[in-house]
Amino acid sequence: MWQSQVNQLLREPACPHNHHQHGDRRNRSCRQQAKPGSAQGGCAFDGASITLVPITDAAHLVHGPTACASNAWGTRGSLSSGPLLFRTGFTTDLSEQDIIFGGEKRLYQAIRVIAQRYRPAAIFVYCTCVPALTGEDVVAVCRAAQAQVGLPVIPVLAPGFVGGKNLGNRLAGEALLKYVIGTGEPPAVGCFALNLIGEYNIAGELWDVLPLFEQLGIQVLAKITGDARYREITYAHRAHLNLVICAKALLNVARQMQERYGIPYIECSFYGLREMNRCLHQVAQHFGDPALQRRVEALMAQETQRLEQELAPYRPRLQGKRVVLYTGGVKSWSIVAALQDLGMQVVATSTRKSTAEDKARIRALLGSEGILLEGEGAQELLAVIRRTQADMLIAGGRNQYTALKAGIPFLDINQERHYGYAGYRGLVRLARELTHALDSPIWTQIRQPAPWEVMHHGSGFDL
Ligand code: SF4
Repeated sequence: MWQSQVNQLLREPACPHNHHQHGDRRNRSCRQQAKPGSAQGGCAFDGASITLVPITDAAHLVHGPTACASNAWGTRGSLSSGPLLFRTGFTTDLSEQDIIFGGEKRLYQAIRVIAQRYRPAAIFVYCTCVPALTGEDVVAVCRAAQAQVGLPVIPVLAPGFVGGKNLGNRLAGEALLKYVIGTGEPPAVGCFALNLIGEYNIAGELWDVLPLFEQLGIQVLAKITGDARYREITYAHRAHLNLVICAKALLNVARQMQERYGIPYIECSFYGLREMNRCLHQVAQHFGDPALQRRVEALMAQETQRLEQELAPYRPRLQGKRVVLYTGGVKSWSIVAALQDLGMQVVATSTRKSTAEDKARIRALLGSEGILLEGEGAQELLAVIRRTQADMLIAGGRNQYTALKAGIPFLDINQERHYGYAGYRGLVRLARELTHALDSPIWTQIRQPAPWEVMHHGSGFDL
């Protein structure tokens, strides 16, 4: 069953990676293999947990060795405005004994204990490599346990060996489509109801966007899955529109909701003034209501004016600063747009996980001079920083040492970050953090010669 499902997901027709590709190239992008010697992204299980763990009132049970459970939630900044159960790690802690005798009873017992002690809204059970390889019937155990405990128990079949993080995102989406979406009914649905798909409330950035929709009279019916409650996802099928925020991750959910429930979807970014405005404009256009369109125009004008005032203190410091951006997917262009809104010049950006469409947008934003980084690794990054004489590196946390080596300021833009940069308020926060990074006194200090080098030249000692 897995193989056919995995093949189907790798051929996802809504994914732009699969457009214009034929034969064995058609699903290449989702089959990223580990490369010896270079840092890897997560496995499929990691991708699935990234997608589902932000459901805050559910228990997330990792069926596998403790090492699989690791500390995935601690390295991602999905925040909750209420329940904190999602932050508790549950695992069946499989050992050699379970590999020999099977871990199904252990899983069943773990589900019962969690249900009794915590009474979560639902229990998501993640099947990792070990039970998948020993051939455990995790779906049957979940079904039996659900009948026993009286709670939804959802199997998530995404063992790490089937592929990378992106595939895991989609497998998690499949679990939502199969077991969750369409199983509940909302208390009330307004005239303009939408779902946010692929927004994980990293550093609480959803909270800068939700008030805008509320102000416009647009109901956000379900958040899939940032700061979500289990119940809201059960009635996501009653929305009138899906907004896909992180373009690639959950496209299968958006497409299948269109097919099953007739809900159209549009892809949006919340980063930067132009993109935020464009997103609201697209939503208003979709609903086609003149009063809503007037409200959107008024909000955009008001926020644009307010932003000009709030950004004024930061603009002189940021204007013209040359930036190398090293991130992935949709952020490769959406963050470029945000930085350009602040007057910065993006001289290079990575296109590692970008689709052909993403790359076209990057090219249009950067112009012919801009460098598109196809490869991975610190060496290439250092070479580009030197070649472009960049003033700053914006990348994921593990690249901060590359910035230190290059002696230039660094800003973390990936999921471990502590500040939300989405929406109008997020843009001001981004400007503030960029200014702090540029003004940190450490950068002048690390460019100076080391004390022992000064001693060596000044004292005449031969060290
Ligand atoms: S690859 Fe398999 S064993 Fe390793 S963390 Fe992922 S699920 Fe666990």
